Amino acid sequence: MLKVKNLKKYFGGVKAVDGCSFEVKQGTITALIGPNGSGKTTVFNLISGILKEDSGKVIFDNIDITHFSPEAVSNIGISRLFQQTRLFNNLTVKENLLLALDNEDTKFWKNVFGFNKITKEKEEKIREMLNLVGMERFENKLAREFSYGQKRLVDLARTILNPHKLLMLDEPVAGVNPYLREEIAEILKTLKKQGEAVLLIEHDMNFTLKLADCIIVMGGGKIIAEGKPEEIKGNPKVLEAYLGE
Ligand code: ADP
Ligand code: MG
Repeated sequence: MLKVKNLKKYFGGVKAVDGCSFEVKQGTITALIGPNGSGKTTVFNLISGILKEDSGKVIFDNIDITHFSPEAVSNIGISRLFQQTRLFNNLTVKENLLLALDNEDTKFWKNVFGFNKITKEKEEKIREMLNLVGMERFENKLAREFSYGQKRLVDLARTILNPHKLLMLDEPVAGVNPYLREEIAEILKTLKKQGEAVLLIEHDMNFTLKLADCIIVMGGGKIIAEGKPEEIKGNPKVLEAYLGE
């Protein structure tokens, strides 16, 4: 469903992304891994329309989205979890999730005129999502009252609620305690069972080895290895890239 073709992005002399091509298939978890600075987030920013590529193409559902704005990319069905959590601290969990459900151009005006009322249907969707991430007890708690890991869960719920065909998650478990990491791994497994497509950035190789169907390893802006977890595990190039960090 997503095809990235020969993407390149240089920042001055830094070859952040240097000719990356890969594919994400429907109903699979694909992980983009690699040492810090290898270009993973830049690939995400190019797909999301936040950065403009020097060359290359991004195709989604056979549509060329290379020159789409971030809003257009979101509207076509790509929902993204950012490396830095993006929640409104002074809104409750429920209010944060309600905002995610209204992913259309009229959202602003609906809010201004108070048309953006919570309906039974939205209420139901939010409850379902809070159940999935195990936060149903906290729907009326303010986002700022949560721990880092709990905020990550709420932000993940927000990303999933945002209408989408593909989820792009930038380091969902970085800095999260081992208990919540397991929880997030379980959530991702559930999503996969439901037929979702996930493109995941993760620094921790062990986390992705257990979870992903396909692993793409980046090093210095290039793809240095690609394959199933068992193919990546013992690959000397991959070990070398991580050791050199
Ligand atoms: P990763 O997510 O794999 O840690 P990044 O994509 O964030 O890596 O960064 C890849 C390289 O590009 C790094 O050397 C980083 O310093 C550089 N880089 C990323 N964003 C910018 C930017 N906006 N301006 C200049 N250099 C950048
Ligand atoms: Mg990054």
